[in-house]
Amino acid sequence: MASRAPSADVVVAGGGVVGLSAAWEAAQRGLSVHLLDPSPGRGAAWVAAGMLAPVTEATFGEESHARMFLAAAARWPDFAARLTRATGMDTGFQACGTIAVGLDASDRAAIDQLLEFQRGLGLDASRLSASECRALVPTLSPAVRGGALMPGDHQVDNRRLILSLIEGCARAGVTLTTERVVSVASDTKGAATGVVTERGDTVAAGTVLLAAGAYTPKIGGVPEGVVPPVRPVKGHAVRLRAPGDGPAFARTVRGLVRGRHCYLVPRADGSVVVGATAEERGYDTTVQAGAVHSLLDDARLLVPTVDEWEYLECAAGLRPGSPDNAPFVGPTSVPRLAVATGHYRNGFLLAPLTAEAIATYLTTGAVPPPLDAYPVDRHLPAARTGSGR
Ligand SMILES: Cc1cc2nc3c(=O)[nH]c(=O)nc-3n(C[C@H](O)[C@H](O)[C@H](O)COP(=O)(O)OP(=O)(O)OC[C@H]3O[C@@H](n4cnc5c(N)ncnc54)[C@H](O)[C@@H]3O)c2cc1C
Repeated sequence: MASRAPSADVVVAGGGVVGLSAAWEAAQRGLSVHLLDPSPGRGAAWVAAGMLAPVTEATFGEESHARMFLAAAARWPDFAARLTRATGMDTGFQACGTIAVGLDASDRAAIDQLLEFQRGLGLDASRLSASECRALVPTLSPAVRGGALMPGDHQVDNRRLILSLIEGCARAGVTLTTERVVSVASDTKGAATGVVTERGDTVAAGTVLLAAGAYTPKIGGVPEGVVPPVRPVKGHAVRLRAPGDGPAFARTVRGLVRGRHCYLVPRADGSVVVGATAEERGYDTTVQAGAVHSLLDDARLLVPTVDEWEYLECAAGLRPGSPDNAPFVGPTSVPRLAVATGHYRNGFLLAPLTAEAIATYLTTGAVPPPLDAYPVDRHLPAARTGSGR
């Protein structure tokens, strides 16, 4: 039966890493928050590797994103520490650094080229010989031709973080309802007034935040041309376990294997995340044998002992892709309707920065730098950002 929940300052549709972080941060600022998600944290956030990689993610043609990535990375130590203080839980944040390695001569040349570009942007990265790579990660294949060290590219255990955020939200008084949002409710003037759930209940709020990752455009009740263009980009990731106690090796390894990208992210508990594919297949999360095969094949070329490791699982998730690979964070042209989506490959890296921007927006009406440089309407046909909260 349809009913009306007590109203909140903000209702968040979607509890992935972005929605949960925003809800937690908004609650820290004293706002009342209601978050709805049929399976909190089980979208792309559950599949992800959790790399926090401002330098390795800086690529040709996306020079302006580097500032945003560095600002996001700088917030991580404090964000993780505050969340641990609030919950008593370990997020698995590790300042471990990353090495990028090339398997053959052309892979090495490509890494050198990227390194020159990254250093040109003032990013912290240095060249490594093949033996220096193996000194840092002794299990690397003797075939590896060399690489680069990115000392500031770290990681968080995505699943530990999600569980910490859910606990943090509960302790901060966020109401969490495990229901799907079907549509945005609005008043006669078109302003958002809340959301309608799959059971037909209305949750009223001062501001509606759509943060359903790749599913954000599927939420109804919003006029066309308001929600920015976000598309699902499928990614498979395999999880393995190396024998013994402790991590398989000390830092993240990102490899180029005959032109294909492959990474191995070692967790403190001995598990290793191997990723990732990037596929344009719509809303499809089936795990495909060919993806498992090619990820394992590339991983074992970089680290041959992978053959001896335990296979745990493979999962596929949908990254919320945007046309320029930058997120959409802030108000839409509909009064009192905001979005936080489009984080593509960097939802974990950008989560603290996004949460801070949303909390600031909710309390002051303005999105702070550097995310103000990425207005929500920048890819909509007639740019018209609303000022309504
Ligand atoms: C293989 C892979 C590896 C990745 N590796 C990294 C990495 O190393 N580092 C990094 O920073 N990022 C990484 N990412 C990207 C990262 O996972 C995403 O950017 C991030 O999860 C986006 O967060 P989100 O909260 O917007 O979306 P999601 O995490 O997908 O969460 C969306 C949530 O919305 C909910 N939802 C959907 N529809 C509705 C609805 N109608 N009503 C209510 N709730 C709804 C879903 O249940 C889900 O919980 C990776 C992604 C993949 C797939």
